[in-house]
Amino acid sequence: MFLPTTKREVEQLGWDNIDIILITGDSYIDSPFVGVAVIGKVLLNAGYRVGIIAQPDVTSNKDVGRIGEPKLFWGISGGCIDSMVANRTATGRKRKRDDYTPGGVNNRRPDRAVIVYSNLIRAHFKGTSPIVLGGIEASLRRIAHYDFWTDKIRRSILFDAKADYLLYGMAERSVVELASCIRDGNDPREIRGLCYISREIPDGCLKLPSFRKAAEDKNAFTGMFNSFYRNNDPITASPLAQRQDTRYLIQNPPALYLSGAELDAVHALEYERDLHPFYRRHGEVKALETIRFSIATHRGCYGECSFCAIAVHQGRTVRCRSKRSILAEARQIVSHPMFKGTIRDVGGPTANMYGFECSRKLKDGCCPKKRCLFPKICPELRINHEKQISLLKALRSIEGVRKVVVASGIRHDMVLADKKNGTRYLGEVVRNHVSGQMKIAPEHSEMHVLEKMGKPGRDVLLKFRDLFYTLTKKEGRKQFLTFYMIAAHPGCTESDMARLKSFSQSKLKLLPRQVQVFTPTPSTYSTLMYWTERDPFSGKPCFVEKTFRGRQRQKDALT
Ligand code: SF4
Ligand code: SF4
Repeated sequence: MFLPTTKREVEQLGWDNIDIILITGDSYIDSPFVGVAVIGKVLLNAGYRVGIIAQPDVTSNKDVGRIGEPKLFWGISGGCIDSMVANRTATGRKRKRDDYTPGGVNNRRPDRAVIVYSNLIRAHFKGTSPIVLGGIEASLRRIAHYDFWTDKIRRSILFDAKADYLLYGMAERSVVELASCIRDGNDPREIRGLCYISREIPDGCLKLPSFRKAAEDKNAFTGMFNSFYRNNDPITASPLAQRQDTRYLIQNPPALYLSGAELDAVHALEYERDLHPFYRRHGEVKALETIRFSIATHRGCYGECSFCAIAVHQGRTVRCRSKRSILAEARQIVSHPMFKGTIRDVGGPTANMYGFECSRKLKDGCCPKKRCLFPKICPELRINHEKQISLLKALRSIEGVRKVVVASGIRHDMVLADKKNGTRYLGEVVRNHVSGQMKIAPEHSEMHVLEKMGKPGRDVLLKFRDLFYTLTKKEGRKQFLTFYMIAAHPGCTESDMARLKSFSQSKLKLLPRQVQVFTPTPSTYSTLMYWTERDPFSGKPCFVEKTFRGRQRQKDALT
């Protein structure tokens, strides 16, 4: 079922009131790939009456008041992407298209959606139920953070939105705990994964530099970010406190990760894999083309690329679903009336992290001062693609499935590091799971830029390229590798882009078409470098191209 989005739908369900209303900056797509839909279904499954209002009109109460007022709380998400990233390009232009808006025109999501929606509720419902923030925008802006669009450090979004609580990361567990605390009149301030505002610092909190100090002093900001980043593992994290005005933001340690069985249970909930009919009259949403018939096999990523927020939002420990659960989802997909035979993607933040984790990490938490893949792949990881090979084979053999595509990114260095099954895995992918092109993301060719990104060097890339084409030739296929690159990352100059061009022409024999200008999104190490113009790992100064023109020129250098 779809969660109700109008009063009439609430009544049709036989509900005389509603416990929780979720507001989102995306349209309401009922899919396991859409956080607000997952949270809604998890709460429903826990016995709560939940409604969703998607992309409300922010100039009136006609949408936000559509269902009434919730008994327990309002939940606000900016959507699957930070609203500033969704609305603006890295060179400052307004984006015209939005893949999560019906009809595709980017006219429904306000800038700083989380703050705007919270103000909207406060304006129309005086003395209402608590307002709870969640989703990627709130999660990555939960402490003092650099904001590219105003070029300054902003305080916690919990303060700017004047909300009551913030749930960060993947919040299935904490949102159910919060709902039951509010329902039963208990104090929720011990819940893991929760941020709240306090006049005092509770015992045991690690005190971060204040917002003011972090905003004024780049060294203090760097120290603050390091502490924040290190205290993000559920096994080892301390609670954090950061003074914002006269009060403190308190961040409890992260929620314990869902076990494999719990993750399976989340995916076993019923999803329509479609846009709610209320919104369909405005057109289709493009995002559905890719997510409708895709399957997420796991969460988290230990890649820790400096520009990526997955480690902060989903965590550095990979948690996997069982093969049985994934196959059950595939069978459900096959029975969907619109399914034509192709599963569009099987993967996660990185496709080939399914099926193994470092046993030391599982027991003691992530290493505080070591990355799992960079500068070298840690031997404790024991990379093994065996389970992925077996999973892909089982998916292919389901009746009604013609093709299973692995469209999520593959870490090419991990394929080469798996001496036992890496070549076999790539062989399977090349033979059965590529749809014309396989995309990989080396991001650059110059080692001093790659070091800042936390990405492997060009030797690994060239070895992988050779292996891919050898296997492709063996299979007699016509398929290609395409490469994602980043321009204007901290440390990268126009000369570096010229060298990348020359490397691409001479070694890769093509010019990459997928070139993104680096966007300093909140709460990543690359953003820290952008703001401080210093490499936080070496402490040395670092060139950063900050002008829109210069950034665009870096991109153009590759065309
Ligand atoms: S490998 Fe991909 S998902 Fe993982 S940190 Fe790097 S960019 Fe992010
Ligand atoms: S021991 Fe190695 S693989 Fe395990 S968490 Fe530490 S760095 Fe990562």
